[in-house]
Amino acid sequence: MDSARRDYYLRELGMTPYRLRGAEPEEPVAEAEPIQVSEAESVEEQIQPAGTGNLPTEELDWTPLEKRVSGCTLCELHKSRTQTVFGVGPQDAGLLIIGEGPGAEEDKRGEPFIGRAGKLLDKMLFAIGYSRSPKKGEQGAYIANVVKCRPPNNRDPRPEESGACRPYLDRQIELLKPKLIVAVGRIAAQNLLDTAEPLGKMRDRRYEYAGIPVLVTYHPAYLLRSPKQKGKSWADLKQAKRLLDAA
Ligand code: SF4
Repeated sequence: MDSARRDYYLRELGMTPYRLRGAEPEEPVAEAEPIQVSEAESVEEQIQPAGTGNLPTEELDWTPLEKRVSGCTLCELHKSRTQTVFGVGPQDAGLLIIGEGPGAEEDKRGEPFIGRAGKLLDKMLFAIGYSRSPKKGEQGAYIANVVKCRPPNNRDPRPEESGACRPYLDRQIELLKPKLIVAVGRIAAQNLLDTAEPLGKMRDRRYEYAGIPVLVTYHPAYLLRSPKQKGKSWADLKQAKRLLDAA
């Protein structure tokens, strides 16, 4: 692990460099009782794109699952997309980052979390030793969204859209079997955990989804607008690192 590079990123993020091994949290985060949240119910399969067979979504492996998503027309969002944005990262990643949905750049390039917010997310992950394309000494992080198609004008996904897309995310979680899920931003957290709680409250709690621990933190785009919150975000990441190390 390149600690000098990590320290550089941490200073750029406005955070105090620390050592990954043996580092003690400056402000321990209180552990709350896990809150069990059941998986969303599957929606009826309405399409079977050529080549993906007749298997239900919950039985598809990575490649046919991605193919099915690429041809999906289950909700209105297929009309406004350039392409679907399935997810990125190693398929055995221990950490799963879940965001809201693709923005304009992601829609163009077919990859989640690129642009300025994506770069910030990559730096934050690097600071705890994780990456969407891990090099030697780094751990893998898989990045996906609640909806796989861009909502027009970056509006929030509607309940029927995130509901229609949920079986794809659920199958990604099932295939990945991550040690930890981090939901970034209010929309992702509320959708995943089926709650209307504000993000500030969710940050203080520990959840579970499909038996996997879930942490909630700020969306990197929000941190770009509100850099003063980077300290809280860094506390969340250190908590994530502790949970991953302990898993
Ligand atoms: Fe299908 Fe999800 Fe895209 Fe809606 S957002 S069309 S459910 S892939």
